[in-house]
Amino acid sequence: MIPRIASPSRTKEIIEANGFYFKKNFGQNFLIDSNILERIADCAGITENDCVLEIGPGIGSLTQVLAEHARKVIAVEIDDKLIPILAQTLKDYDNIKIVNQDVLKTDIAQLIAEENDGKPIKVVANLPYYITTPILMELLEKPNGIASLTVMVQREVAERMQAEAGSKDYGALSLCIQYHAAAKLDMIVPPSCFMPRPKVDSAVITLTILPEKSVSAQNEAFLFHIIRCAFSQRRKTLLNTLRNQGELSLSKEEILSCMAQAGLEENIRGERLSLADFAALSDALWICEKKKTNGTEAESRV
Ligand code: SAM
Repeated sequence: MIPRIASPSRTKEIIEANGFYFKKNFGQNFLIDSNILERIADCAGITENDCVLEIGPGIGSLTQVLAEHARKVIAVEIDDKLIPILAQTLKDYDNIKIVNQDVLKTDIAQLIAEENDGKPIKVVANLPYYITTPILMELLEKPNGIASLTVMVQREVAERMQAEAGSKDYGALSLCIQYHAAAKLDMIVPPSCFMPRPKVDSAVITLTILPEKSVSAQNEAFLFHIIRCAFSQRRKTLLNTLRNQGELSLSKEEILSCMAQAGLEENIRGERLSLADFAALSDALWICEKKKTNGTEAESRV
């Protein structure tokens, strides 16, 4: 068996031999526990038929394990200092493609089309924590051929991802996850499994993309516009938040009428609404807004 990259001593050796310095602004906390890496591949259900997209391979600790389970691994890494290191640490594998790019500027659908003939892939990653939410939103919101995501995130982000209506963690991220995927918390991972150690616990969570969105909405972009708006001022009532954000052209009475159509009380707060409530409200508001502005202004706001 090829020696593990992920042991503490081997990681230290690779870092020192290459004069590499961890960059906080790239969220570089490398995994140094081989058992956790095997469990991540297991939770993702990786088989020899799978093509895997990894975000942020670092020095290749997780990439190595993924390459041993999968048919192919595509790994997107922003830090060009890591590219020659990866070429060396992963030299024994012929099923890995490293892409030196910012994942947020990468056309994932095109990458999947080129590298896996457009067939669905699984995402597996120890995500850089400073951009966890933008990465997840980007991967979930754009149609791109992803079947599932098994990702390491901060524990409190995993809690927000799974939060239910009414809880303090509930917000736009929870609703985005519910809309697109079924979420399962796989494990909690302590700081001691990383080099350098983060200050907080981490968690691995698997999101399996739903074949159909969990609710239907007339305009998906407008639905998420309303959701973001509803959580922008958590202490205010939904009615006041919708009135204050100034982007709807509807009067107080019209908003109240839409809320009533969606079965919502006048003084409810956004955090009490389920995803189905938001879908019903956004449909009522969308119809009303389009009637009032002939559709053009409503379209331009989302
Ligand atoms: N996978 C490795 C491991 O588990 O040891 C490293 C994980 S580390 C938490 C996050 C990795 O993501 C780093 O290698 C970092 O350079 C990379 N990264 C940060 N921002 C990125 C971005 N926008 N696009 C691609 N990679 C990024």
